[in-house]
Amino acid sequence: MKNNIKKIYIDSKVASGPVASRILASPGGADIEIVDDPRAILDQFQKSGSLAEKETLLVYHFPGKFMSSCPGSDGMVCCNYFVINFGLGCVFDCHYCYLQSFLNNPLMTIFGNLDDLIQEIDLKTKNKKFRFRIGTGEYTDSLALEHHTGIAERLIGHFAGLDNAVLELKTKSDNVDSLLDLDHRGNTVMAWSVNPPSVITSVEEGTATLEERLEAAKKVELAGYKTAFHLDPVIYYEGWEKEYHELIDTIFSRLNPDRVAWISLGSFRYSPGLKEVMQSRHPGDELTKGEMIQGTDGKFRYFKTIREQMYVSIRKKIDSVDSRLFLYLCMETRPMWEKVFQYIPESGKNLDALFEKRRQYIEKNGLPIGRKKV
Ligand code: SF4
Repeated sequence: MKNNIKKIYIDSKVASGPVASRILASPGGADIEIVDDPRAILDQFQKSGSLAEKETLLVYHFPGKFMSSCPGSDGMVCCNYFVINFGLGCVFDCHYCYLQSFLNNPLMTIFGNLDDLIQEIDLKTKNKKFRFRIGTGEYTDSLALEHHTGIAERLIGHFAGLDNAVLELKTKSDNVDSLLDLDHRGNTVMAWSVNPPSVITSVEEGTATLEERLEAAKKVELAGYKTAFHLDPVIYYEGWEKEYHELIDTIFSRLNPDRVAWISLGSFRYSPGLKEVMQSRHPGDELTKGEMIQGTDGKFRYFKTIREQMYVSIRKKIDSVDSRLFLYLCMETRPMWEKVFQYIPESGKNLDALFEKRRQYIEKNGLPIGRKKV
């Protein structure tokens, strides 16, 4: 499953950079135009009123900072994660996606000054006695456009040379073929957001099917990568428990638990403002029709009894597969951690120690498989 872009604008400031050079060498059927004033292109699309242009891409010189701490959420347990952003907007159209109300950028945009991004990662991580977990995929899917951009390939190669950082690439695509033969040295975790097939079909428009995602996950597992899964957002609907349990069974009928670095759980949530956008873009959806409650971070979530019930049920199911699998909750309160795990991480450091323990377990016990040594 490859989402091909029809038109690509390249900011002349990055026309000789690595991303643009790759696109120019292999346009993949896209019409390409180099522009001196990318702002004018954005304005033109803004005026047309299109909220999410999915077939046009702008390769842009990003002047700001690429790397930041995960913003987390007020009053929620934070897991000391760092994020790097190499683009804005997404080719997919998940009905719950927060980008719908968060970004006012009318075009999918990829930052073409990749060397600046890499330099920033080095500056941030060099000579630090800290093991960084650095993820992508906050403002865009990490792999959906990999066949055009080659950004993940470059990042994987770079992280292979870092001894205190792990890269996590999160996706809902199956776009991994170009990454299988890379010398990743075990420093990249390939992660999939997953949901039961009925949820994928109804609200994750344009994404790879569960089968396709798991097939891709198997390919990277065989290529020696660690994998990870994010059951996020977990959605509450009639029959959820059976379907989420079947999802866990399906994942572990294909994937080796000893290669799974981590699994996160997070319930469906939305910020004020997103509900209206979701209802106007996807009026038939049930997602926002149930009663939700506003948390200290301003976001609306299911009632805590519902969240607890879902997390505990899914945790028990995962434990029944392999109780050594490392699970954590994304953007959840301390009392919820206590209820689900009978444990509250006192600080991000406690959680870091758990991530590190799992990493060491995998390095020791999950024997590398596949074409490259890790
Ligand atoms: S894959 Fe992620 S970024 Fe893309 S539309 Fe879905 S939720 Fe949004």
